[in-house]
Amino acid sequence: MGRPRTFAKFKEVQEELARSGSAIFRDKDGFEALVVRSPYSIEYIHSYAEDSPFFLGLAEKKLLGSRCTNPACRFVYATPRSHCMACGTPTEWHPLPLKGKLHSWTTCRFGSEAFLKETPYNLALVEFEGAGSVLLARLKDCVEKDLYVGMPVEARFSDAPKYSITDLWFVPARA
Ligand SMILES: [Zn+2]
Repeated sequence: MGRPRTFAKFKEVQEELARSGSAIFRDKDGFEALVVRSPYSIEYIHSYAEDSPFFLGLAEKKLLGSRCTNPACRFVYATPRSHCMACGTPTEWHPLPLKGKLHSWTTCRFGSEAFLKETPYNLALVEFEGAGSVLLARLKDCVEKDLYVGMPVEARFSDAPKYSITDLWFVPARA
């Protein structure tokens, strides 16, 4: 095996990497860098443990929050939470309404690989009647200029659940 072929355009380097796995990139100053292809893959086996009912609920188009079991507290969280942050008592699962209000949002113009094709997209904090904390999820079918604090939103669930938080998103509520 001889010396890798040399290219001045990175596009050509990429093509050579696909062919042979190595190439030399010569930049405009004549500097030559050896470039190699090294595939990288990782598979996670992840347990949701005590959060499992939340993700199983999404697949059944249900939103589950958690409620403190202390009769003197009864704080309701809009997220899975095994113990109450206010008093430390274990919680129980508590169904949340599928409609809520926009508490705040951010519009993302860049994202991780899974979300790049959706950019720009909105991430919303949603508040629910009867819950004391908010839930973070994507807000679709709207553009940033139409958003306002207190805007009614409603949950949407994937028809092909992957047991991920992306099984859930919100859209502006229809009247
Ligand atoms: Zn509590």
